[in-house]
Amino acid sequence: MDYKYMAEPYKIKMVEPIAVTTREQREEALKKAGYNTFLLDSEDVYIDLLTDSGTNAMSDNQWAGLMLGDEAYAGSKNFKHLQEAVRELYGFKHVVPTHQGRGAENLLSQIMIKPGDYVPGNMYFTTTRAHQELNGATFRDIIIDEAHDPQNEHPFKGNIDLRKLQDLIDEVGAEKIPYICLAVTVNLAGGQPVAMSNIKDVYALAQKHNIKVMMDATRCVENACFIKQREPGYAHKTIKEIVREMFSYSDGCTMSGKKDGIVNIGGFLALNDDDLYQKATSLVVVYEGMPSYGGMTGRDMEALARGMYESMDYHFISHRLDQVKYLGDRLMAAGIPIVKPVGGHAIFLDAKAFYPQIPQDEFPAQMLAAQLYLQSGVRSMERGIISAGRDKDGNHHYPKLELVRLTIPRRVYTYSHLDVVADSVIDLYKEREKVKGLRFVYEPPVLRFFTARFEPIK
Ligand SMILES: *Cc1c(COP(=O)(O)O)cnc(C)c1O
Repeated sequence: MDYKYMAEPYKIKMVEPIAVTTREQREEALKKAGYNTFLLDSEDVYIDLLTDSGTNAMSDNQWAGLMLGDEAYAGSKNFKHLQEAVRELYGFKHVVPTHQGRGAENLLSQIMIKPGDYVPGNMYFTTTRAHQELNGATFRDIIIDEAHDPQNEHPFKGNIDLRKLQDLIDEVGAEKIPYICLAVTVNLAGGQPVAMSNIKDVYALAQKHNIKVMMDATRCVENACFIKQREPGYAHKTIKEIVREMFSYSDGCTMSGKKDGIVNIGGFLALNDDDLYQKATSLVVVYEGMPSYGGMTGRDMEALARGMYESMDYHFISHRLDQVKYLGDRLMAAGIPIVKPVGGHAIFLDAKAFYPQIPQDEFPAQMLAAQLYLQSGVRSMERGIISAGRDKDGNHHYPKLELVRLTIPRRVYTYSHLDVVADSVIDLYKEREKVKGLRFVYEPPVLRFFTARFEPIK
């Protein structure tokens, strides 16, 4: 059957009612939250697009798996299932379960990085870079320049620039580069994919210099689906085949199960090298737990193993990408400024273009997120000057991009929900000229976006 956007490849067996609120109630809630969507109670939110992390809907098969948890302290059979899933689907020999993705990043950074090292990567991710730096490494962004341009329509904006990689090797020496951190897809670039040909080339160059390649596998299934849809030679391959091939050009990965694992908590470190695995197992007992459960319960490992198999279904992942694309297409058709091309997990509204009358230090993206909640109960997230924080002298960082992120959780909302989101953004765009900015009433010293409070400028 031909379709423009794939309908849900599942039906609804259990429902979770969500709050339908009045504008008065939302005004009250927003004031109470200091105009910060992070401070809203989820009970006051109608459609929650704050993040796609851990907000997935599990299948009946995963819920059934929860009842089969083997909570033995050692040698749980659910660990064996997780190990089988990692070996069969990703192709890595060893797996160390962790409480979530950053637990795996902590282990990997500690076992591989020496102070003074460099870790190149295709754009940073917050927790990934934090662990690299905590262990004394300097992060180097080696993503292609196109990734930094929100209007550039390159199909694989997550690609690594091999020239930048070679330059870094020439500059600091290969022995100072323990591994390349290759993220598939690139979250902070807007969920942009990496081409198979690029992954292959990066691995070849790395091997030539005896440098390892460690994948951030968090969104690997989204990446595989983009390869199937966009890269010549892959249209007839299965998602499973593409994922296996991607990982065949690497030495291990960190994984957050909260994303493409389709669970609510969990993650792992996967490795091929026996020595590195030995080191990881001696560290995991300090930070997480026994190597056969790490930071997870038996039942959670079972749900993750089952989620990984489900994630290989082309209908699951193409529906997900279609949902994101649907929202993007509706907004673009109405002339709404968004980051292009649409990536794997979210739509990013360009708040500078949306509210050009609001100077960046009066927080246009923060205000747009607040207005969207007020309008329809949709919760989004500011990714602009508030998230960027201040420099050492106390001045705002002024990021080039001032964005509002609409993140789509997996299997949670329908196209009708996305219509509400699109209609609401379009309505706001019609009234955009009337809107003014915000000012701080409370500004925390670090990670201010989580807990800052604001009031509208009159
Ligand atoms: C979420 C995420 C992580 C961190 O995983 P957590 O489970 O949140 O600790 C790492 N990398 C990417 C690309 C992510 O999206």
